[in-house]
Order: sequence, then C-alpha cells, then structure tokens
Amino acid sequence: MGGQTPAQERPRSDYPLRAPKPVGQMISNIYRDRINQFYSGGQYEHQTLRSMMNEAVVSGEPHVQLSVWHAPGQTRPTFKDAVSQVFNRVTVGEWFGPSWTTHWFKVVLKVPAELRDKRLLEFHWDSNSEGLVWNEHGHPLQGLTGGGERVEWILPDSFRDGKEHTIYIEMACNGMFGNGSGDSIQPPDPNRWFRLDKAEIVAVDPDARQLYIDIWIIGDAAREFPQDSWEQHKALKVCNEIIDTFELGNRESLKACRKLAEDYIGHHVNSAKVYDSGKEPLVFGIGHCHIDSCWLWPFAETKRKVARSWSSQCDLMDRYPEYNFACSQAQQYKWLKELYPSAFDRVKKKVAEGRFHPIGGSWVEHDTNMPSGESLVRQFLYGQRFFESNFGKRCQTFWLPDTFGYSSQLPQLCRLSGMTRFLTQKLSWNNINRFPHTTFNWVALDGSQVICHMPPSETYTAEAHFGDVKRSMSQHKSLDQDATSLLVFGKGDGGGGPTWQHLEKLRRCRGISDTVGLLPRVHMGNSVDDFFDRLERKAASFVTWYGELYFELHRGTYTTQSNNKRNNRRAEVTLRDLELLATIASIKDKSYTYPKKDLDAMWETVLLCQFHDCLPGSSIEMVYRDSDEMYAEVFKTAHRLFKDIMKVLGVAEVQSTTVADGIALNTLPWHRKEVVAISEHDAAVACGNGPLLKLRTLKTSGDEPLVSLDQVSKGVFVLANEQLKVKVEAGTITSLYDKLAERELIPKGHKANQYVIFDDKPLYWQAWDVEVYHLDTRKPLPSSETQVHEIKSHRVSVVTHTKISDASSIKTIISLSAALPGQQSYVEISSEVEWHETMKFLKVEFPVDIRNTEASYETQFGIVKRPTHYNTTWDMAKFEVCSHRFADLSEHGYGVSILNDSKYGFATAGNVMRLSLLRSPKAPDAHADMGTHHIRWAILPHRGALSHVTVRKAFEFNNPIKLLSAPAAALQQFTQPPVHLTEDSSPALVLDTVKRGEDDEDISTGELPAKPGRSVVLRIYDSLGGRARGTVATTWPVKRVWKVNLLEDELEEVVFRDGRFAVDLRPFEVASFKLELA
Ligand SMILES: [Zn+2]
Repeated sequence: MGGQTPAQERPRSDYPLRAPKPVGQMISNIYRDRINQFYSGGQYEHQTLRSMMNEAVVSGEPHVQLSVWHAPGQTRPTFKDAVSQVFNRVTVGEWFGPSWTTHWFKVVLKVPAELRDKRLLEFHWDSNSEGLVWNEHGHPLQGLTGGGERVEWILPDSFRDGKEHTIYIEMACNGMFGNGSGDSIQPPDPNRWFRLDKAEIVAVDPDARQLYIDIWIIGDAAREFPQDSWEQHKALKVCNEIIDTFELGNRESLKACRKLAEDYIGHHVNSAKVYDSGKEPLVFGIGHCHIDSCWLWPFAETKRKVARSWSSQCDLMDRYPEYNFACSQAQQYKWLKELYPSAFDRVKKKVAEGRFHPIGGSWVEHDTNMPSGESLVRQFLYGQRFFESNFGKRCQTFWLPDTFGYSSQLPQLCRLSGMTRFLTQKLSWNNINRFPHTTFNWVALDGSQVICHMPPSETYTAEAHFGDVKRSMSQHKSLDQDATSLLVFGKGDGGGGPTWQHLEKLRRCRGISDTVGLLPRVHMGNSVDDFFDRLERKAASFVTWYGELYFELHRGTYTTQSNNKRNNRRAEVTLRDLELLATIASIKDKSYTYPKKDLDAMWETVLLCQFHDCLPGSSIEMVYRDSDEMYAEVFKTAHRLFKDIMKVLGVAEVQSTTVADGIALNTLPWHRKEVVAISEHDAAVACGNGPLLKLRTLKTSGDEPLVSLDQVSKGVFVLANEQLKVKVEAGTITSLYDKLAERELIPKGHKANQYVIFDDKPLYWQAWDVEVYHLDTRKPLPSSETQVHEIKSHRVSVVTHTKISDASSIKTIISLSAALPGQQSYVEISSEVEWHETMKFLKVEFPVDIRNTEASYETQFGIVKRPTHYNTTWDMAKFEVCSHRFADLSEHGYGVSILNDSKYGFATAGNVMRLSLLRSPKAPDAHADMGTHHIRWAILPHRGALSHVTVRKAFEFNNPIKLLSAPAAALQQFTQPPVHLTEDSSPALVLDTVKRGEDDEDISTGELPAKPGRSVVLRIYDSLGGRARGTVATTWPVKRVWKVNLLEDELEEVVFRDGRFAVDLRPFEVASFKLELA
C-alpha cells in the first residue's frame, strides 16, 4: 500500500498564462532591519508609529501647576511634615539637587475640556530621578523612575471633571542606581543635579501603544527565531505588512495594523484571556523586584525604594489580573509597615488575595559565606516569624537570586525552617566553569536536601523580552529531568519591579506560542510555590549537587570592608554570650527579665548588616558610616545588658585583681583551663566548667620558667614553652618546633608569618573581585629588626615593624604564653596595620611542612574541604575561599591550624596557608579599608588529624575569658554549670546556643501567641563530621525536653531523667532542643 495521494481539488484555471510583473524575494536582513525603525527613535521618528503614540499633550499652567518645597540637607521628611511647608512656584526645565536631597512637589492638575473624553489619560513626570506619587490625603500611589523608564501615572476618572486636583510628588535626587559618577559602581558624585524634563497631561492612543508592543515582539521573532524556520519568515512578513499598512496621521490604520499582528500573536493578547488556552506551559513568569537593602545608596533610601516599588506593583495588579509578584526580605516589609502603613495595608490585601507573595523566609537576602551558623538560623527565625505573624503563613522557598555563593549547610537549615526549595541564579556569573544544572537536589553536609532551581534565563531582573522566554528553554540544562522553568522578571537591584510593558510583552509571547509555536509557552498566574510543587512530585529523579555552591567570582568580598566584618564577628560573639548569660540570670532570679526586646533589636541590626552588599563590602561609603553607627548601638546595648546580668550574678568587672578575689567569666560549654593576666605583671590560671571559673596560682616547676625568650644572635629570638619553640627573625618565623611531637613545622629556608602584597586590579568589580592573576604579582614584604616586647612569667613576646610603603606599615607582636598540661599551645600574633594603599591586597603566609591535597575550613556548623592544588579548572577556581574561625592543613597524624579573630578570606596552595588581611579597592567606596586595623591570628600545631582541639581553640580565641571579681558566694551558685555536655560526650559536639524560648509568656513580644511557662532552647551540632553521641546535663528545673526545629516547633519528645537527656547526631547535624521548665 501507499504511494496514493488523496484526490485534490484542481486549481481554478484563472492562473495567468504570462507573468504580469517581476516579483522579488524578501531580502531578509534588509526587511528585518527596517522593523526597528518603525517604532524606535531616530531620524524617522516623526514619520512612524512613534509619532502617533499620543493624541494630545498639555503642560504648563493652568493645566499643570507646579510648586516645590526643598527638604533641608539630606533629610527625608514624612508626607505630613512636607505638605505643611510653604511651596514655591516652579517650572519644567529647572534643575534639582545636589545628590541625596529631597524635593516635594505639589502638582495641581486640571484636565482641559477637549481631553475629557479621550480613551486613556496619563500624567507623565520625568525628573530623571526616582520619585513617589502621593494623593493629597497622604497615601503613596505609585513609584516613578526617571529617564523614560517609569514616567506614567494613570489619571483617575474623577480627574475628568474639569476641576483642579492635587497630587504630591516626592522627588529623590538619585537614580535607580544611586549617584555614581560616570560608571554606576564608581563612588557617588556628591553634586549631581537632576532636570525636570516633563510634567504633562497626556491623552495616549491605546491602539498605538498596543501596536508598539505587537511589532516589538513580532520583530523579535523575526530577529531571534532561526533563519531556517518558517516561523521566522512569517514574523518578517507580518512585520513588513504592518509597516506597509501604517498611514501617518490615520488612527484607523493603527487598528488595521493590529489586525495583521493577530495573524502572529493570536486574538487574545489584549487581556489575560491569552493565558486560558489550556495548553501545557513550560515557562512560569513571576514578577519580582530585587531591592538591595543597601548598595549604591544608603539604607534610608531603600526604605523609600520599597514604598515606591511595591506601590507600583499593587497598581499593576489592579490592572493585570494575571499578574503575580514575589518579594523577599522581611526587613523591607517591616520598614513599609512602620513608615508607610497605608501602603503596607494595600500590600497585605494583595497578599491575602494570593497575588503578592512574600518569599524567602529570611530577614534579608543575606550573604551566606560569612555569617555564623547561628546568624543563618536567626535570618530564618526572624524572617519566618515576621511572615507568619503578619501574613499568617511561613515561606516555603528560600530566595537568594543575587547572593555571592551558597554555603554547604543551607539545605539543612532550610529544611529545619520549614523550607524545601531554593532559588538562585548567581552562579550563572561564574567566570571560570559553567554550572551544569538548572533544576537539581542540593545536598547539605549532613545529607539534607532542597530542590534548587536556577532560572535558565540567567537573571532575576528579566525585561520579559522575547529572548528571555526563548532562553528559558535554550539555556535549560536539566531537560532530561524536567523542562519547566521560572522566568523572574522586573526592574531590579535598585528596585522598581515590572512595568506594564513587561506584562504586555509576555501576553504576546504566550500568543505566539499558541498561534505559531516554536517559542516555549509562558504562563502567568502561578506562584513560585506552585512551580516548585510541580517539581517536588518528580524530585526523586533530579540530579544532585553535594556541598557548597561555590561562586566563581566576587572572592574579594571575603576581605573588603574589614572593619564591618570584624564588627559582624564581634556582634555574633556578643549576642551568643549575652543570650547564654541572660538565660542563666532569668532562671536564677525571677525578678530579672530576659531582655528579649533588646536582643531582637540587636539581632535585627546584625542580620540587616549581613545583607549581600553590606557584609561582603560592596556598598558605598555612606552605608558603612551607617553600619558603624548601627554596630556601635548594638555594642552599647550589649554593655548595658551585660552590666544588668552581672548584677544578678553578683559579680563586678575589674581591670586588675588577685587570685583570691578574682574569677573568670567563661561562656564556652567545655572545661576550660587558661592563663589569664590578673594585673600588669601577674597571671593566674582560670580553670573549670560553667560560667564562673575560679582562679588558681600559676605554678612554675622548679627554676625553669614557664615560658622563655632568648636572643640567640642579633635580631634572632627564640620563644619557648614546654610544648613549642619558636624562632623569630625580622618578624618572620623561621622555625616552629613541636617539642612533644619532635617535629619541625616550617620547611627549611621558608618563613612563616611572612607578609605578602599583591597587585589587585580585577576585571571590573573592584570591591567584589580578586582575580586569579593577582597571584602572579606576589611580593614578600621585608621587615625591620625584631625586638623584645615583653617578658613576663606567663608570656613573652617580640615586636617587629614592617614598612609597606611610605604611607602604610604594620606593627606585629608575636607572643607565646606558658603552656598548660593537656592544653595545646599556640603562637599568637597581633598586628596593627596602618593601611593607605591603592588596589593592593595584603596577606600573611604560613608555609608548613604538611602534605595533603585537601585543606579544611570552618564553615557554619561544620567543615568544608577544598583542594590545595590546581588540577582542574574547578579546583583552580577556588584560589581564594571563605573560612570562619580556622583553616587547617593536616596530613595523617599531624596538622596545623590557623586561627583568626575577624577574617574570612583564606587560601591554601600546596603547603602554603595564606590568610587574607586587607584590600584597597576604590569603588564603590573610594576609602574602603583606609586607616588603622587591629587583627589577631594564631598558629596552632596539633598532633593527630583536625579535631575538637582546633574547634575549641578557635572558639576560645574568639571568646576570651573575662576577668571579674566576686565574693566566694557568687562562685557557689555555679559549683556545677547550669547546662553542659557531660565529659563522656563526643568532643565533636558543640553546645553553641543557649537562649530562652521565643514565645515564653514572661518575655513574649506578642508577635506570635505566647506559650504558657518558661523554656530554654539549646542548639548543638556535630562539628567534625561523624556520628556524635553525648549527654546534656542541667541543674535547671526541667520538666520535659523536646527536639525542635529552628523555628522552635516541637518535633518529638526526648526522654529526660535525673537532669539529663541523650543526644545522638548525624555527621554535621544541627539539633535544637527545647527544655520546658517547671
Ligand atoms: Zn542584590
């Protein structure tokens, strides 16, 4: 069978015998290039569609009356304050400034009679800066962006009555991306002025506007569909027919043009109906507005950006029923709630309607490399609690589209915070290796997983172009598992969010998919959660990625803005200590109230400063002036709270004391034994468990000093105690000998604690990046002769000066303290750096006689291993990595850890360990890191592999014992620590956090319903990556114990008997327990 063609009707026989005229082929490129001309500016703009966009325009008085009040200095007054001022007449064409000032305009509009019946009336305002439209009753209506980006505000019908109507416009003298001079990442120009270009009532021709979008998108199909597809050729043809049909001045011809467009985009693009075809979509569009909580503008401006952007989005929702919008950062919601209550109510209504989707579950879109484990926990705790208390719902998706890399415990912490999904796209910026997946299961150190999706359009600020929709398929890397993707569109970074153009373009994209095909079908109306719900059903088949999502760019952010990072570390330590001590105090003395409000305020500040442009160091100078003040306030509150607690515990702060009167405050949960200086010359040993430690006399054995310092030849010193012998020569350590292991650690001819300086000019992003080639510019810094600094019975030290340049220098003190039996001794280095360089990078090196192809680095609640070699490009890409309190290079049986008190950048290349100290980028902060810095680090050798010895010493290095004084009775109250892991517990277990339950009735802030009784929450983790068992013992009157998640929801009851309960953790598990007090 086969070969038969069904009978066809014959053509009618009027086919002419002779060709009447020549007909040519469309020359593709010429006919294609013609399309753009039809709707763009340029020499023909008065002859094309562009000239017919408006039916009429009126400006100036009496229709548009403008007056202005200039807010003093850089103040940002409220509406109420502003409108009570005297406004002065002003006209279009005037300039306003300088940078960061605010100008309030009173705009009185009177629609002329001839415009009253026009189809669409808008007010167009372009001040080339950001602005916010308010109604005369003080409700923010909509944001404005200058430069033609978002300049239209639709006039309400009530304005068509021929009477005068008043609105206010709050003009901010900054662009969407701040006030950078020339290039937006350059430091702000303090004297930028903005011209008011436009303030007019416009009668828009809706047909022209719609046709504009029609031909834009069909033109994109002609430009971007493959040339060997009929779909491309058809697009070309339709566009050219439209252009030929257009008649200048004939508004009816616009309708005819639109009719032609339907041939390509279908009949339904004028409404949300276009999405009702019932055909299976692949691309899910979600509106989004990324607002950096600070960046090229200060925090204060962000608060206004939120009001502007989200008001605009609520307005779009009223006009586009298909439109759904997702936005993260509880902090921004809180700002809106406090500063713009009516705008917040409007948002709340949209949230209730299911159109405005709070997402992310975290306080801000924070950095994830540097915050401590507990900080990450609090990002979720404070974030989810805000969302729950204000919107009745927690978030399911963790949302960090723009953060600079993702640390390895995040999936576990997400799961423990009620989130199973994660969205990012930043890894598409990798400049060495291409990340291989779009949709996958991301697995934490402990094995917990979340579904991760990285939108294949590779942006979180898509313009909703035809190309964005197309790339959602063409760049999708997980098509074997699932072909769907999210398209996250809307103006962002500086805020803004989607515009009406985005929504119109997407309608047409959908029309094309259903009418012509070839373009992946985009859908609107779903939430991000809907998208992930679909994925979750098939997640078992997704590929996996274990461990950190290392970002192959922005490696300089581990070091830039050193002071800010130091404040972050100090604040984390302070908050940990305070919560522990306040918990103890509140249980000891019922008249003492656990300072929840203060602690919440402190945490919220610290969490905000962990925003992904603040802590990483990529913001302008103004931001760091603010954050310095914010941290100062945190430390001031801490000092006040600490004093209150000390009163409850019956102890006093002292500078100097005696063995008999003194005690030591210890906030770490293990037996501690340390030398403490009790006066200028004397030291004692603080020893014991629990918060208050007794002092003992520091005993010497016979005539031998506990620690010695000898000058062995001119400028060469040997510092020695019972464990270590350190040879220092011109500031460097030329020998570090472990007496007990009988082992030399510095390879012959090498120098540890050697400062090195590098040229540091990355390809573009100065504050963000250090590029691989900087390694080729390494220069060791020579130092002057070393001198004796101190010789005391418990400690000796030497001092060295190092000249970096005529402007910069370092003073370094290398110390060795008396070694205590059973305590690993280490060499401590403290430096004072005077830093005034330009595009230089200062590091300190430690070549060690250890061989391993992997080094270990502390990360949140665990350890991450990274290569010490450059075998592959993936290995090489990690030439600079993030490390918390320690980095370690160990071989079988022995290793060396480098501890630090405030640093995050590290590298281990071969056997050289390298701590990053200071950078000097000049953009976006021209003065980043200039000035004086105090930095401490230590070299900790250890027998055996990386163990709890390093984990604990690193903690101790960051939480030094504090000297106090108290009567003997004070000590009596803590003969046993109130809560601790018993001695037979695995030493890998760390009892990290001790705090009161969030909703305990005596401290509840009422955010969520209070719970009866009092409770204590403990967080314990396995720090080394093995099964870890132990016993928690407490003297508190505990009635029941629950295992809880990070949000303190009860998961299961734990057996509690005789003041004890057992813990049994997976490798790197983070476990939380709630102790209900009697
Ligand atoms: Zn961002």
